[in-house]
Amino acid sequence: MATIFSKIVAGEIPCYKVAETEHCFAFLDINPVVRGHVLCIPKKEVDYIFDLDDGLFTELHLFAKRVAKGLKKVCPCIKVGEAVVGIDVPHVHIHLIPLNNPGDLNFAHHVEMKPEELSALAAEIAAAIE
Ligand code: 5GP
Repeated sequence: MATIFSKIVAGEIPCYKVAETEHCFAFLDINPVVRGHVLCIPKKEVDYIFDLDDGLFTELHLFAKRVAKGLKKVCPCIKVGEAVVGIDVPHVHIHLIPLNNPGDLNFAHHVEMKPEELSALAAEIAAAIE
């Protein structure tokens, strides 16, 4: 069965997209731990990041690097942090999280954002990605 992220890539489930390449896709996390929480995924459905072949593993990280640079321009932060968990959704995803405090990378914490705020933020990040 297709993962929820494959359905997002296919356009069957809406998302706040920030970037897309032939093999990778980035969108805002629906339940952000901080403003600007982005997920970068390979379009190919693979559960565990270390099962990706070397080419796609590298491509995904270079894609995440490009997205993180755009994200940092829009969401002021000391650094954009990167985390891989993958316990909830069995489809590889890199969390990009703007960090201003060590505690910002806390998956127990969430910020409320309205749909119109998420939509505007996604457009701003998309425009900032080179
Ligand atoms: P993990 O698998 O790394 O533990 O967490 C999965 C992440 O995916 C969570 O941060 C969760 O908020 C996010 N997520 C789950 N379902 C959706 C969805 O349908 N859309 C979006 N944009 N994010 C989702």
